[in-house]
Amino acid sequence: MSERYKGFTICVEQDENACSPREEYDHSGVMVCRHRGYNLGDHQSTQEELEGMDIGVSLPLYLYDHSGITISTSPFSCVWDSGRVGLIYMTKAEVEEVGGEQRALEILEGEVKEYDQYLTGDVWCYDILWHRITLDSLSYIFGGEYALREAQDVVDSYIDRHNNTPPVASCDATASACTRCGNKEIRYAPMIEDDEKPYRYAWCDKCCTGMKFNYGLSLTCREEITYG
Ligand SMILES: [Zn+2]
Repeated sequence: MSERYKGFTICVEQDENACSPREEYDHSGVMVCRHRGYNLGDHQSTQEELEGMDIGVSLPLYLYDHSGITISTSPFSCVWDSGRVGLIYMTKAEVEEVGGEQRALEILEGEVKEYDQYLTGDVWCYDILWHRITLDSLSYIFGGEYALREAQDVVDSYIDRHNNTPPVASCDATASACTRCGNKEIRYAPMIEDDEKPYRYAWCDKCCTGMKFNYGLSLTCREEITYG
C-alpha cells in the first residue's frame, strides 16, 4: 500500500523475511509449547520440566490452526481447529523484578500479542520516497497502522528540520543545477543532518534524475525548496 503524505510517498509493505521476535529480542517471559506440526515459542517442554520451575505467574497459550495460525492466551471458539499448546511464564524472581504480578501479566500478554503478530504476518516495512528517491526505509515493524504512523513521523521530522533551519543550497555551481542536463530549476528535499555531515536530495523534473548533494559545514547560500 502506498500513500501521499505532505509531498512524500510512503509505501508500507508486509515484511516477508521477518524472523521470530522470540529469536530477535530478549523477553521477560518464557514461552514453552508443544505441537506436532509447528516449532512454536522459545522451546518445547514437557510437563515434568515445568513442575520443577519456580513459576511466579503464567498464562495458557491456545493455537487456532486454519489457513494460517494464530495464538492467544484465551481459548478459541472452534474446538476442531484449536487447542492448548503451552504456556508463557515468569519465575517468582522475575515477577518481582518487573514490579509485581499485575505488571508481569501485562508484559506476558504483550509478548503473546507480539508473537501472534509475527505468526499472522502483521510485521511490516516502509519506504519513504521523495519523487523516485528513497529517503528512508525501515523493516521489522509490528502492526501495519503503526508502521504508517512511524513513517509519517519521519516525514514530519524532515519537514521540521527544514522549517527550523533555513534550507541551504550549496554555493558550488554543480549543486545548484542538474548534474545531468544542467536544468537550474531542480527541487530540493529537506536537508538531512547525519552525524554533522549535512546532505540533501534533489530531483530534476526535466530529465527525471535524482541527486544527492553533500555539504560542507559552513554554508551561506539559501534557496527555496519546493515540495512534491
Ligand atoms: Zn536534469
